[in-house]
Amino acid sequence: MRCTGVSWTIDQAWFPPHCISPHTSPAQSHAERLTWNAPRDHGRDARVVAWTCECTNPFYELCQAGGQRFIRRTRNAPDKRIVDESDRWNARQANAQWNALLLGLLH
Ligand SMILES: [Zn+2]
Repeated sequence: MRCTGVSWTIDQAWFPPHCISPHTSPAQSHAERLTWNAPRDHGRDARVVAWTCECTNPFYELCQAGGQRFIRRTRNAPDKRIVDESDRWNARQANAQWNALLLGLLH
């Protein structure tokens, strides 16, 4: 029997081959809406710990600032980028929100 090496690539097959980072799933009908705020301190104090692929609009970053984490949303408009930030949570809560976002349970 010969291993074709195909089965483990199926999850990525819907996306362009250059994509490495994860994509958010489409928001589900019962998805909860996050609160989006204007960026605080222009995001200067934040370190990005996870991100989604930039081929999607918007794309998202999980940011760490001090002892808290938040999600940054970047939308590409024709002439500018619009950046919003979620509320801030502790790492455990923020990671749960991030996972929910990737699964399409938040938007
Ligand atoms: Zn992509």
